[in-house]
Amino acid sequence: MTNDKKWIVHYPDEVSVSIGQEFKSLQSYLREAAEKHPEKVALHFMGKEMTYQEVYQEALRFAYQLQRLGVEKGDRVAIMLPNTPQSVICYYGALFAGAVVVQTNPLYVEREIEHQMKDSGAKVIVCLDLLFPRVEKVRNRTNLEHVIVTGIKDYLPFPKNVIYPFIQKKEHGVVIKVKDDDYTHSFKTLLATGKEEIEEPPIDPKEDLALLQYTGGTTGPAKGVMLTHFNLVTNTRQCIHWSYKMKRGEERILGVLPFFHVYGMTIVMNFAIMHIAKMIILPKFQPKEVLKTIEKHRITLFPGAPTMYVGLINEPSISKYDLSSIEVCLSGSAPLPLEVQQKFEELSGGKLVEGYGLTETSPVAIATPIWGKRKEGSIGIPWPDTDAAILSPETEEEAKPGEIGELMVKGPQVMKGYWNLPEETNATFHDGWLLTGDMGYMDEDGYFYIVDRKKDMIIAGGFNIYPREIEEVLYEHEAIQEAAVIGVPDPYRGETVKAFVVLKEEKEVDEKELEDYCRKHLAAYKVPRIFEFRDELPKSMVGKILRRVLVEEEENKLKEQ
Ligand code: AMP
Repeated sequence: MTNDKKWIVHYPDEVSVSIGQEFKSLQSYLREAAEKHPEKVALHFMGKEMTYQEVYQEALRFAYQLQRLGVEKGDRVAIMLPNTPQSVICYYGALFAGAVVVQTNPLYVEREIEHQMKDSGAKVIVCLDLLFPRVEKVRNRTNLEHVIVTGIKDYLPFPKNVIYPFIQKKEHGVVIKVKDDDYTHSFKTLLATGKEEIEEPPIDPKEDLALLQYTGGTTGPAKGVMLTHFNLVTNTRQCIHWSYKMKRGEERILGVLPFFHVYGMTIVMNFAIMHIAKMIILPKFQPKEVLKTIEKHRITLFPGAPTMYVGLINEPSISKYDLSSIEVCLSGSAPLPLEVQQKFEELSGGKLVEGYGLTETSPVAIATPIWGKRKEGSIGIPWPDTDAAILSPETEEEAKPGEIGELMVKGPQVMKGYWNLPEETNATFHDGWLLTGDMGYMDEDGYFYIVDRKKDMIIAGGFNIYPREIEEVLYEHEAIQEAAVIGVPDPYRGETVKAFVVLKEEKEVDEKELEDYCRKHLAAYKVPRIFEFRDELPKSMVGKILRRVLVEEEENKLKEQ
């Protein structure tokens, strides 16, 4: 397949972010920042600030201790933390020690932790004290040799009445006493006794992994995506290039997306460090808290997920806050309804643009130009040095503009492969292109549009239906706050369309009215036959609505019948 497309350039120049550039390790950017701007504030967390020099020194001390515990180049170190200063220090510390970071979702239950530790072969895990019992239960069945435990209060006196995010209800209020022994170590003690001199193993950025990021799991257990230093550095550079008007050293970036997800990790944490920004860290998304933080810290850049912006525009007190500092918001991880984008821009005065990507692309591959031409409903154009195309289902060749097919991506941010899964890796590439599993099309100007995920497509009475189109229509209804659409088994049509909706506060609407409304805006075969009203919808940690969970609930209901 040839590639001779010329993208409409919306960036200030055509400088390559990956070709002819010096390749360095990810952690070298923290060192550089600390050397050049030692006194600059790197992060703010609930009233506590740390300079670049402090973050760097703590990361080195942590790296020293990891090496003392036997961590060698290429060993996997798992991090199971909500957004805190520790999540930044441990991440960079592990890299300085030459390790590969394995981000572990703090919401994982024992079965999931066990799978991830076994599959990655992690030698060390760092976890919050309240999560320790979960790790402890599985440790004998894994390769874990050390657990490093950090307390919420290691960096600041955490307010007593705060319900800490990611902790199961039964874990709240439990006092965890961790005794230092050969296996269990206190993070605080390790840092206090650590040294800032380490032997940093040499890194080959193009070959050496920085991260094993687990993804998927809809069809079997989660897979480890192998991302190299080069992948992650390049994606951050692409972000810097894309947001070229943002000023190095002057931005204040809101860190509310979880850093254990690749989106928050690259676009917030790594971006902030490589761009010498100040990162204001929040461990949980709460609309009022976010609005207060934007006002107080004069946030200029706020990467988030669509449901976050939905939550903010529906927060009744939003107009009381001064949001005028916001310059750019990037919405990613799921489709951004047009209504939401327009309303948020109106209320904040900043730009809300959309990015698209996946764990396998570190994560961003395509995004709307911030200051260039935007098109309604489009995710934009490929990032610098990235190419994208649509695979025609008819010809198995590159599709013509307008034809729907599977979106494919090529670029320096594309993963090395899946960890220990060569067959799955091969199946994910077509002629050197990464198959994304998303259906979409490209228009005459090279702008891309996502129709839906390949596996979420509903086939009802022989018609292909993309849930997203129906959700877009539902979002436009004045009473609806959130919507998710799935296919459910139907004896006549094979599948039929079911919509789950969350109504806005004090709004009322019944099933019949919604059906009539959909009939006005959609072809009859797409109109949901079943509506279910909910108080909330299941969401992932980045706020992505999980249709998969709704499908599983429906399947379980059927089994019980
Ligand atoms: P993950 O690897 O968990 O980050 O999920 C990647 C998937 O999220 C993609 O394959 C898409 O299905 C979806 N996704 C990410 N960004 C967007 C977007 N802007 N619009 C639609 N879907 C998106």
